[in-house]
Amino acid sequence: MDLHGVTALVPAGPVLEGREPLREGDVWLAGGTWLFSEPQPGARRLLDLGALGWDPLRLDGGGALHVAATCTVEELTGWAAAPPLVARCTDAFLAGWKVQGVATVGGNLVTALPAAPVVSLLAALDGVAELWTPAAGGPPRRRLLPVAELVTGDRATALATGELVREVVVPASSLAARTAFRRATLTPLGRSASLVVGRLDGAARVGGAPGGLVVTVTAALRAPLQLRWTSPDALVAAGGPEAAAAALDAAADGSEPRRTWHDDVHGHPAWRRAMALVQVREVTAELLGEPA
Ligand SMILES: Cc1cc2nc3c(=O)[nH]c(=O)nc-3n(C[C@H](O)[C@H](O)[C@H](O)COP(=O)(O)OP(=O)(O)OC[C@H]3O[C@@H](n4cnc5c(N)ncnc54)[C@H](O)[C@@H]3O)c2cc1C
Repeated sequence: MDLHGVTALVPAGPVLEGREPLREGDVWLAGGTWLFSEPQPGARRLLDLGALGWDPLRLDGGGALHVAATCTVEELTGWAAAPPLVARCTDAFLAGWKVQGVATVGGNLVTALPAAPVVSLLAALDGVAELWTPAAGGPPRRRLLPVAELVTGDRATALATGELVREVVVPASSLAARTAFRRATLTPLGRSASLVVGRLDGAARVGGAPGGLVVTVTAALRAPLQLRWTSPDALVAAGGPEAAAAALDAAADGSEPRRTWHDDVHGHPAWRRAMALVQVREVTAELLGEPA
């Protein structure tokens, strides 16, 4: 793709450190796999994040995982301590190894396709994104936003103009959680049409210590939607897997993108709804130890 309006490719460091102002037409460049695949009429200067040298993956003292925005999908998948859910989600990335070797976590979050595998993964694990806005003459302003709220629709995010994803922090409790995964595609190697992850945190077991049960629905809806119960027992008391599916159906009322069944060539909304309801029943039954 020729980016005809682009006149400069510069390192992002000086802008992030406040030594240079952001200009109209500035665009963050990560792996470039989406940026260079479509016309970018508004782009004038590419700010290259690749040279910042951020550690791709880091565990802090409390066991939380810090995933840099510049971490590639390949690095995330290859992390030696990755829970199985990581590979199950990144397997949904319909790209060869060349693309996976350069496509980044930040680029996948911000491209914000409903079928974005990194959105499915990091929303399901209750990842929290640290966002930076460059400030002239000083360090960037920072704010935190859950990944499930960062993505607001099909190719839409809550990022302000010029705002950057610095990293996503995944809590230790999510890394240690038991998860159940279901993914539906229209064709054997198709893009995700509905991807549902159930998560039962550490101590949470039926009849055991309280802990959250979280179901995250992506791909079927235009943005991630999460259903939460304070404990597995709370879901059992509410009616179990049938009640979980009913809760999803009630939540998907079309009032906003994350409550609207997605519609594109990868699946009709009615079919996506049917798949998602089955998947929610199945993941909750699996986590509750009931027959699906
Ligand atoms: C063959 C092929 C198959 C693909 N399959 C899929 C797929 O199955 N699912 C899917 O979701 N995508 C897919 N994509 C699209 C794309 O590759 C991914 O979304 C990828 O993760 C984008 O990451 P990147 O690092 O290349 O981002 P880039 O292309 O560099 O940037 C993408 C966008 O994000 C912005 N951006 C990048 N990093 C940041 C940051 N840290 N903070 C703020 N903004 C930022 C850029 O300005 C740009 O607007 C595919 C692409 C190709 C070429």
